[in-house]
Amino acid sequence: MASKRQITVGGVPIGGGAPVAVQSMTKTETADFDATMRQIRAVADAGGDLVRCAVPREKDAEVLRRIVAESPIPVIADIHFNYTLALKAIDAGADCIRLNPGNIGGPDKVAQVADKAKAAGVPMRIGVNSGSLPKHLHDLERENSVEALVTAAVEFVELMERLDFTDFKVSVKSTSVPNTIASNRLLAERIDYPIHLGITEAGTKWSGSLKSAVGLGTLLADGVGDTIRISLSTFHAEEEVKVAWEILKALKLRQRGPELIACPTCGRLQFDMDTVVAEIEQRLESYEEPIEVAVLGCAVNGIGEASHADFGITGAKNEGLIFAQGKPLRKVPQERLVDELFVEIDKSLARGRTEFEDAKAAEGALWLERIEEENADELTPERIAKLEAAANGSTALPQLDRVRLAEADSPTAGRRFKRV
Ligand code: SF4
Repeated sequence: MASKRQITVGGVPIGGGAPVAVQSMTKTETADFDATMRQIRAVADAGGDLVRCAVPREKDAEVLRRIVAESPIPVIADIHFNYTLALKAIDAGADCIRLNPGNIGGPDKVAQVADKAKAAGVPMRIGVNSGSLPKHLHDLERENSVEALVTAAVEFVELMERLDFTDFKVSVKSTSVPNTIASNRLLAERIDYPIHLGITEAGTKWSGSLKSAVGLGTLLADGVGDTIRISLSTFHAEEEVKVAWEILKALKLRQRGPELIACPTCGRLQFDMDTVVAEIEQRLESYEEPIEVAVLGCAVNGIGEASHADFGITGAKNEGLIFAQGKPLRKVPQERLVDELFVEIDKSLARGRTEFEDAKAAEGALWLERIEEENADELTPERIAKLEAAANGSTALPQLDRVRLAEADSPTAGRRFKRV
């Protein structure tokens, strides 16, 4: 279940039904002010709500004040082993302190940090990793690693409550996707504090993104998780943010920027789809509007499959067609397809609507008809569906409409959010 409690990190609400917050962690030496600020700005530009910086040395804590002052998004100080650095980070104005209560020198040190954080109104993230559980849980860990991880987290929650500090979120981290799913589900049943989700050391951009999508996506679809970080082996923290957004967008939990739809291609492909899709994806990164753009590798099927898209292109031999909302806009030489698509997107966004010129739309429709006729004997998926519908006694294919989600039936019901 989504957490009942809510905390606020530098103005960003976490938990209690707030939009799932996206965070990343800088990969620079924090003491290197310029490099760290460059990365924080890249994270913020990519849509990061929060950023975390490692504070392993005095010199990092010293620079933190300037970083917090200049950062466009709240800064979380990541502390391990040295509780005095946590105290200094609070003095430096950090918006949140991340620590593992089990590794900073005992409950009295945790108490000192909690007292100072409480006085300063600074929340904490208390995190437990599968690789660093307290000794008394090692036997349990061998029997049931999920139970051990969650028990450690709940013990730390109880410790914070005894210290009269409740302004925190909790994380249980594991490198195993099944353990991450199981432990966070269990944790969500046992505590009502906000939960931070992540897969530890997930891997490269490719494998790490997939592991995170499976692990975090499963939990988020269950309603578990209030803030996420995708851990990828890359020096570009903003890449983590982009992956996090794709996961949230795929689950319709949050909305940000365009969505690209592209056919998987097959033997009917009529143009260099790989290059075209990559170029469109890259150019769409500079748009904030939640438009849907479709790329179909051939016009054999018409444009029915992408009729819900705001804009789209399809091609055949030397020519291509730009369409919008299921209707042809105009045909263009293939080498101009991408540029002209963006001309149409820009025009429509500037006007607030798409205008169809009758003559050009009719020319495009004729072109499409011709391609469909020329390939009339092709047994495409759409035509197979039509034949099946006819065999079932239905005369027409159901009209494809913009996908509408049944809010009440959705596993993410009530958690939808549009970034404004
Ligand atoms: S039939 Fe055309 S649109 Fe469908 S996958 Fe093949 S190339 Fe893409």
